[in-house]
Amino acid sequence: MKFNEHIRVIADFPKEGISYKDITTLLKNGDVYRAAVNEMVEKIKPWKPEVIVGPEARGFLLGAPVAYALGIGFVPVRKPGKLPARTISETYALEYGSDTLEVHADAIHSGERIVVVDDLLATGGTMAATANLMRKIGADVVGMGFLIELTFLKGREKLVDYPVFSLVEYE
Ligand code: IMP
Repeated sequence: MKFNEHIRVIADFPKEGISYKDITTLLKNGDVYRAAVNEMVEKIKPWKPEVIVGPEARGFLLGAPVAYALGIGFVPVRKPGKLPARTISETYALEYGSDTLEVHADAIHSGERIVVVDDLLATGGTMAATANLMRKIGADVVGMGFLIELTFLKGREKLVDYPVFSLVEYE
C-alpha cells in the first residue's frame, strides 16, 4: 500500500516554510487506515510488547488500534493537567520555550515491555521525552513505531538507544 498517496501535504501550515503532513485524509479511508494499522502491528509483534503507549493526540489514533489488534493494553501520555490520578512528568525543550508530558504513575509496572506509537517523527523531541518519561516510570522501552518520518530532521539521532520503524519517509 502506498500510504503517501493518502497523506495530504499542506504548504506553510502552521507557519510559513513548514510542509505539514495531514493524516486526516488517510484516516478517513477505512481500507488504508486498517492497512496502516495492520502493517504497524506486524512490525511491532516481534518485539513482544505488553503495553502500547501513545502520546497525545495523534498517537492515540494509531496506538489504540494497534493495542486492540495485539490484544494488549494502551496507556495515554498526555499534556499537563489532563490525567486525573497521580502523574509522573517530563519537561523538554522546544525551539521556543518548553513542553511537558505526563503519564499516570501507576499506569505501567516496573520492567513492563512497552512500545511507543506516534503519527510522525520530526525532530524526535516528543519521542525522546516520552522515552525518558517511560524510563522514569520503570518501563522497558522495546521499540518505537511511526506512520511518518521526516528523515531530513534526523529525529532518529535522538532515539539511537531504541529500535525504530516508520511506514512512510519524506526526505
Ligand atoms: P518532534 O517532537 O519534532 O519529533 O515532532 C513530532 C510531533 O509533532 C508529533 O507528535 C506530531 O504529531 C507533530 N508533528 C510535527 N510535524 C507534523 C506534521 O507535519 N504533521 C503532523 N504532525 C506533526
